[in-house]
Amino acid sequence: MVLTSIAEWARRKGIGVVGTGDFTYPAQIKSIETELEEAGGDLFTLKGNATDETEPRFMLTTEVSNIYKQGDKTRKIHSLIFAPSIKAVKKINKALDAIGNIKSDGRPILGITSQELIKIVMDSDPGCMLIPAHAWTPWFSIFGSKSGFNTIEECYGDYTKHIHAIETGLSSNPEMNSRLSMLDDITLISNSDAHSPSKLGREANIFDCIADYHEITDIIKTKDRKRFLSTVEFYPEEGKYHYDGHRDCGVLLSPEETHKAFGKCPVCARPVTVGVSNRVDELSDRPLGYKAKNMIPSQPMVPLQEIIAATMGHGVNTKGVTAKYMEVVEAGGSEFNVLLDMEVKEIEAIAGEKIAEAVRRVRSGEISIVPGFDGEFGKIKIFGTAESPVEKGPSQKGLF
Ligand SMILES: [Zn+2]
Ligand SMILES: [Zn+2]
Repeated sequence: MVLTSIAEWARRKGIGVVGTGDFTYPAQIKSIETELEEAGGDLFTLKGNATDETEPRFMLTTEVSNIYKQGDKTRKIHSLIFAPSIKAVKKINKALDAIGNIKSDGRPILGITSQELIKIVMDSDPGCMLIPAHAWTPWFSIFGSKSGFNTIEECYGDYTKHIHAIETGLSSNPEMNSRLSMLDDITLISNSDAHSPSKLGREANIFDCIADYHEITDIIKTKDRKRFLSTVEFYPEEGKYHYDGHRDCGVLLSPEETHKAFGKCPVCARPVTVGVSNRVDELSDRPLGYKAKNMIPSQPMVPLQEIIAATMGHGVNTKGVTAKYMEVVEAGGSEFNVLLDMEVKEIEAIAGEKIAEAVRRVRSGEISIVPGFDGEFGKIKIFGTAESPVEKGPSQKGLF
């Protein structure tokens, strides 16, 4: 995830503003300082590209992991941090360097509480923003079943006023989150959580605004539906922690099945890893299918490389699939253009009938998915029926 690769893939995907990631990591902040230039609005581009408006903009971002005791439980929370300037980044890094090790990992592990972290971030620059990352995953998130909390207030106390958003993560979508009235004033954002550049844009936020750090954070703060048009979502079933179970035991359980088994694995009898769907049920105060009035619309999507792999019957990372992907994206302008904007007929002209039909099915939700569980990604089936079909609510229909 070096900056030149991130920029290259952001162009290919059709991403206008992308996170630098890892700004706490010494090598990455050095790259930020030497390879980027200011491009206005407290965003950056690769050097020499600031005047080119089509070039992807970088926002200064990082993710950190806090592990600490609160009450009688060990808490493990991942957080995203956005910063408006390199000066703010350096203040954050200096403070974190004094209390923990930020030199050994792109996502440092810190022994301080979430409240101590947000104090450091907001003291560095009031324009900074901290957002709980992938808020529902079992092991490392604010609402996680294993080491999280039940409310934002429980985690952030007096600093709750600085929490304007949570990241829904790949295993949950805005509809699931809108079953919790406590999140009505929280903005739900969707990011790719990419650990390699080709995974950028797995999820995305579509804003109608100029490329400007303060405009973007203002939209997030105000949950402004006029400017926050929609999010692009993974089908949550495809996420690694949608359902419950034990990966090593080969046991996949729906929340109902987990309840019937009293939370125990039928193979090894230990407690199963409770996934996101179950945990949302547990904390929600509204029925399945409830839609909050001010919810930002979302578009469920499958990455184009996976769609092409399904049409060819080959693995996602095989040569043939990658070559076809590059060809289609080149002809279509960008991956998002192909997935979200082009007519099926237009896709057919550049990619052939089968890929066009696959995109149509993905857009309309005519697919089946074996849900992900205990760290294993879900399996999407676009053609034919899946080994064990999942019932899918009417709410999964895309907005096209
Ligand atoms: Zn994380
Ligand atoms: Zn087991």
